[in-house]
Amino acid sequence: MQPDLCPPQQQLRTLKVALESQAPAQRPGYASSIATTSLGPPVLKHWCVWLQPADASPPNRWDQRWLKAVSSALTTWGALVPLTRVDSPEQANVMIWRQQPARRQVAGVWRASNGRTQLQVVDVQRQSRRRLEPQVKVMVSPGLRAEALQATALHELGHAFGLWGHSSVPTDVLAISQGESPVLVPSERDRLTLAWVMQQTTRFGSTIRPSIEPAESALPE
Ligand SMILES: [Zn+2]
Repeated sequence: MQPDLCPPQQQLRTLKVALESQAPAQRPGYASSIATTSLGPPVLKHWCVWLQPADASPPNRWDQRWLKAVSSALTTWGALVPLTRVDSPEQANVMIWRQQPARRQVAGVWRASNGRTQLQVVDVQRQSRRRLEPQVKVMVSPGLRAEALQATALHELGHAFGLWGHSSVPTDVLAISQGESPVLVPSERDRLTLAWVMQQTTRFGSTIRPSIEPAESALPE
């Protein structure tokens, strides 16, 4: 029998673990600018991904276009990271919402963005087993043209799968600012950086036993 790769969560506790920059060193691609956590990089050997479904059935053309672009970005990353699409958010580590992120202030200026990705570190119980997982909320705005939508989804999903930083090279998916034409395929540098991140030692994905329980306290509600 096929083991259930994405069982639903039974209990979840948010831990006070944040992203932090790494000590400078020579690393492949733009791995030096990728943030990590005190528990290691927030990555899993297998990901469960949920996409917000369309509002109506059959979906209207805007929802359809969003789903197509985001699915396509997901398929692209799926060649580099093992993942399964799931039907409910309770099964997921990565949740992708059709939503315009709230504006935020950067260096004193209010800015709108097309996408945003947020990380929480959780102690989650699934099938009576507790483990440490990244829980990632991805927002991809629906109000974009198709190519920009796909490029935005690809960039945000890069963060979700462990690339918590930016590249200064415009032809990389994780470029801080995109060039003239949207990047729709991970570059060699994107691949090298992700491969490096995935090779690092991490506590994510490992079973939590009382003796190795993280000392961090749960966040207040
Ligand atoms: Zn970004």
